[in-house]
Amino acid sequence: MAYDADLGRDDLETFDGAQPDNFWRADPHLRRVLARLAGETTLAGWETQLDQFGAECAGGIDAAVRLNNLGHNLPTLDRFDGFGARLEAVEHHPSFHIAGRGIYGSGVMKALTEAHGNVKSLAMFYLSSHNGEGGHNCPLACTAGAIKAIRALGSAVVRDRYLPRLLSTDYQTLAHGAQFLTEVQGGSDVGANSVRALPSDDASLTFALHGEKWFCSNVTADLVVVTARLEGAAEGTEGLGMFLMPRRLPDGSLNRFTIRRLKDKIGTRTLPTAELDLNGALAYPLGPTEGAFKNVMTYVINTSRLFNAVGCCGMARRAGLVAHGYAAHRKAFGRPIAHYPMVADILATMRAQTAAMTSGTFYLAAQADRIEQGDADAETRGFWRMAVNLNKMRTALTAHEVIQSGLEILGGNGTIETFSVLPRLLRDNVVFENWEGSHNVLLLQVLRDCKTKRLHQAFFAHLATLGGNPDRIRTAAAAARSELEAALAGDEALATLVIRRLGSRIAYLFWAAAMHADGTEPALIDHFLDHAIGPQPAQDAAYARRIAALAQVP
Ligand SMILES: Cc1cc2nc3c(=O)[nH]c(=O)nc-3n(C[C@H](O)[C@H](O)[C@H](O)COP(=O)(O)OP(=O)(O)OC[C@H]3O[C@@H](n4cnc5c(N)ncnc54)[C@H](O)[C@@H]3O)c2cc1C
Repeated sequence: MAYDADLGRDDLETFDGAQPDNFWRADPHLRRVLARLAGETTLAGWETQLDQFGAECAGGIDAAVRLNNLGHNLPTLDRFDGFGARLEAVEHHPSFHIAGRGIYGSGVMKALTEAHGNVKSLAMFYLSSHNGEGGHNCPLACTAGAIKAIRALGSAVVRDRYLPRLLSTDYQTLAHGAQFLTEVQGGSDVGANSVRALPSDDASLTFALHGEKWFCSNVTADLVVVTARLEGAAEGTEGLGMFLMPRRLPDGSLNRFTIRRLKDKIGTRTLPTAELDLNGALAYPLGPTEGAFKNVMTYVINTSRLFNAVGCCGMARRAGLVAHGYAAHRKAFGRPIAHYPMVADILATMRAQTAAMTSGTFYLAAQADRIEQGDADAETRGFWRMAVNLNKMRTALTAHEVIQSGLEILGGNGTIETFSVLPRLLRDNVVFENWEGSHNVLLLQVLRDCKTKRLHQAFFAHLATLGGNPDRIRTAAAAARSELEAALAGDEALATLVIRRLGSRIAYLFWAAAMHADGTEPALIDHFLDHAIGPQPAQDAAYARRIAALAQVP
């Protein structure tokens, strides 16, 4: 029988029908990682929730996010009501709220307050990120940061008024967060920020914010963490304070800000990102009003960087599921394309990269839990601080590579918006690469920390305790450490060139060690290291058999 259009289309339908209906059940690697980090007993207690959410993410939430991303369903600005009163609202298609109800209703934020809270919350976030940013995942990252900042630094009034709503699962009444740091002249260079905070002249201990913010995602958030500077405060980041700006004043009226416009973005298109004017907006201080940037980093930015990394893992994983399924069913030259060694090589590499970044990132989530519980020693804290920046940089880049590989597997169909989720994942990932710190800025921070705080000493000492310190990692880590130390001792500008490449290599070694620690299949770790740091093994029959075996599993 001729292989005609009907059979070709049947194959595509079989591929689509065979996509997992539950992202949790489809992910043995995630299960192994969580079991190792949180323990089998704890994981057993999470099972029902993860299973239910895994099904929703692959079902109703996936469909809602897809619908919401159609060009005519994107958010629009709704500044005034019919009588001209200020609304400063955003109009969403109903599909946005269907996705939101499912995502927030899962308990993803409440999980932060449980034992192994970061690991659990981020496991749910990972499942949610199989649908890209989805309109709600950036807000979740910001909400998590706001929860941590308020718990640590909020006054009793702020804690009592806002925390219960931030942790709620009731989509109708809960509160969600945002963080407005970036100004048109101050992106990476946050110290150039000029928004001012003026103390109120009553006894309320509140401030009035004045100025302009340039990138305001989740612009209608109930609560926003904002950086601002008091009159007379020091220039640079030292003079910045951290404030909490509610959307509504205590009497229910709208706070004093105006939205200029929503930005038309390459990705994360159902998430409204705006330019905003602060016209004396009321805000509560979170901690000291000067010298607070350290707190912004600790509670807000580092939390977002970890969430960002998990988001990249979730998107990469989804790309792997789509590509694997397609390769199994799409036929070319009479055979499913998965049969061809070059395709198998791509699939095996996608799988290895995704497993590596997932092992590494969840290891960091587990260390965040230990740090927050006060159970981590100075070496672990130093390791975490360096790793979270390297990890944010590398997960974003690796996710891009994995999603791009997925598009390659799908051929021409990979480029078509309506054919699969992949084009949207790629576009969302471009945004993930930029916000929460661009690659260079993260690497510069690593370099600065190594120079001034000698953080690399803690990093490499901790790395040597991870996963039994196998020879291949030990040798490569020793070489990377010497290169880094030589760069730190030399010219500063040249050191930035060194870290741009070395940073990725160090991140790869950490991921491979984390895979050893969680019991990932050794052949997958080897394939990852072959690909990431080399040397490449001989492309012989044994290699072809190995990649064929690795590519069997999605
Ligand atoms: C869709 C989207 C939504 C966003 N939402 C928010 C939000 O809600 N809240 C918020 O606060 N921000 C938000 N941002 C802003 C984001 O955090 C910034 O874009 C990011 O921090 C980079 O700043 P920038 O765009 O000003 O780039 P720049 O700082 O101008 O950097 C441009 C380029 O120069 C490089 N560079 C800068 N300095 C150096 C240096 N010293 N050495 C080497 N290279 C350097 C950077 O790596 C980058 O590649 C959002 C961004 C996007 C794209």
